[in-house]
This record gives sequence, structure tokens and C-alpha cells, in this order.
Amino acid sequence: MPRLRPVLLAAALAAVLPLAAAAQEQVVNVYSARHYATDEALYGNFTKATGIKVNRIEAGENELLERLKAEGANSPADILLIVDASRLYNAQQLGLFQPVKSSILDTRLPASMRGTNDEWFGFSSRARIIVYNKAMVNPADVSTYASLADPKHKGKICVRSGSHPYNLSLVAAMVAHMGEAKAEEWARGVVANFARAPKGGDTDQIKGAAAGECGISINNSYYYARILRSTKPEDREIASKTWLVWPDQAGHGTHINVAGAGVLKHAPHKDNAVKFLEYLASDDAQRYFADGNNEWPAVKSVQVKNPALEAMGPFKSDDLSIATIAKNIPAAQKIVDRVGWR
Ligand code: FE
Repeated sequence: MPRLRPVLLAAALAAVLPLAAAAQEQVVNVYSARHYATDEALYGNFTKATGIKVNRIEAGENELLERLKAEGANSPADILLIVDASRLYNAQQLGLFQPVKSSILDTRLPASMRGTNDEWFGFSSRARIIVYNKAMVNPADVSTYASLADPKHKGKICVRSGSHPYNLSLVAAMVAHMGEAKAEEWARGVVANFARAPKGGDTDQIKGAAAGECGISINNSYYYARILRSTKPEDREIASKTWLVWPDQAGHGTHINVAGAGVLKHAPHKDNAVKFLEYLASDDAQRYFADGNNEWPAVKSVQVKNPALEAMGPFKSDDLSIATIAKNIPAAQKIVDRVGWR
């Protein structure tokens, strides 16, 4: 009988080992609405540094939120990576995130770029800018967001739907600065100046301005940077006909938004997820993350070498916290509905 023992031991070990391996599985599952050329290096470097493999599911924001709602407590996802305060707010309202306490994230990321209870963190920033047709518009006439409501711009503004997160966040920032009534008056004035009914994405508005269909477009900074960096003849044409204004330089500064991420409430690999967020705040990851979409790093000390952003010049950004913008999203939605910014 004693000779059987090693066999039994081996059998017992064989039965136990796969379970042990599964429990220690070094992975982090990321649901991401971002995908850029620099992502491979971004995720690869994390695996190299930590041994933690990154599994990515990439899809549109709405699809990811639907999926997370459907999966509930059984979701394999550890991290949700999305863009814009209004979407981070939605995810937060759905109770998808859990607060994260990390001294690395606390010291690296400015307080203005974190959720109220640290349930999400902004890792890059983008600005909502005005691009104008140089032959049609004097930039001094569009130096502020408020000026967009000036009746002298009647028939000149191209902008996408007011219900799109980028515009909801801008309106929410206006609410935070001037109160609901004045923000509504402003939005009504902007709508009265539309060159056409809202359609398409931000790049379509820039194209509208370049083509002279409108003189003024409202769009996120990275869409314009992408055109400035492009060597395609049609983009060179757009770049030659237009330029940008950083709004509100003498006031609050230009409206800023974020791409951000949080650890999901039911994350099966919570420790790895926190490590991944901390990695996103590191110098190298900040560069990949921001530069991949012509954005600015959230960590102030990190510099990107981006020729388009340099050409667009320095600007003063609005330091309104992203959490405050998020809080005013419901008010902004009511305003865009009331003024008919569809
Ligand atoms: Fe975008």
C-alpha cells in the first residue's frame, strides 16, 4: 500500500493545480471605447512590467454599457474605459464603478479630473474649440462661447446634435458658470444661428466650415489636430481654409473634457485593475494614451511632442472640475430638449 501513495498524491495535485492557477490568473479585462495605433505599445508595456495580460473588448460606448448592464454581477470586466464626462456620469449613475483608493492616482492626477468619490479617473484631456472659415469670419467675433449666440452669426454655425455627450458637457459647463436660465438663453441663441439642422460628427462640422456651408463649427480639439496632421489633399485643403479659436481666453478658459476609466463594481481582478489604472497614470503610458488621439496628458508634468497640438498653440483651459460638469448633465439635457437642439 505505501507504494500507492505517490500516485495518489500526484492525482490529488493534478486535481488541485488547475484551480490554483485559475485563482492566480494574471489578467485584467478591459472594456474599452478607445482604439488607437499606439494602444498596442500601451497595453504591451503594462504586461511587460507586471506580467498581467490585458484582454480587451473594444466597442462603442452604448454597446459596452448595455453589455455591462446585461452581464450584471457575472461580468468578467474589470475596467471600463470611455470618453466624456457625460458618459462617465452615466456609468456612475448606473452603479457600474467602485471607488478606488490609490495614493499613486491621488498624487498623479489632478483632483479636477477625478470622480467625486474616486469612482473614475480622467487620463487625458481634450478641448471643445471653435473652428472658423477664414474668408467668412473674423476670429475676434467668435472669441467666446457666449459670442456663438450673437445674432450677427445667424445662419453660420455648424454643430452636431445637442444630445451628443460632447455638447451636453459643454452646456453643462455653461450651466455651472452662468446658471440654468442664462445657459438656456445662450443655447437658444446658438440654435437660432444654425446654418443647417445638426447632422454628422465633429469632423463633418469642420468640413462644413471649410466648404463655406457655415462659417463656424464647434468641435473637439483632436478632430482638428487630426486634420492638421493629415497629408491627404482633401485635409490639406480644409486646413488651408480654416483656423481655430480657443474660446474664453479672457474668461473661464476653454472647456475641457476627458477620456477616463474606472474599476467596475464586480471586477473579478480588482488588484490588477487598480494596477492598470496606476500604470495609465505613469509617464510613458500618459504619452501613448494622449498622443494616440492628439490629446493632452492628465498628468501635468508629462509633455507630448505633437506637431499639430504645437501648431494650435498654447491656451488657457477652464479648470471647472469634470465631476461638476458631470453633475450638471441632467440640466443640460433638459436645456437642449427645450431649445430644440436636436
Ligand atoms: Fe470623439
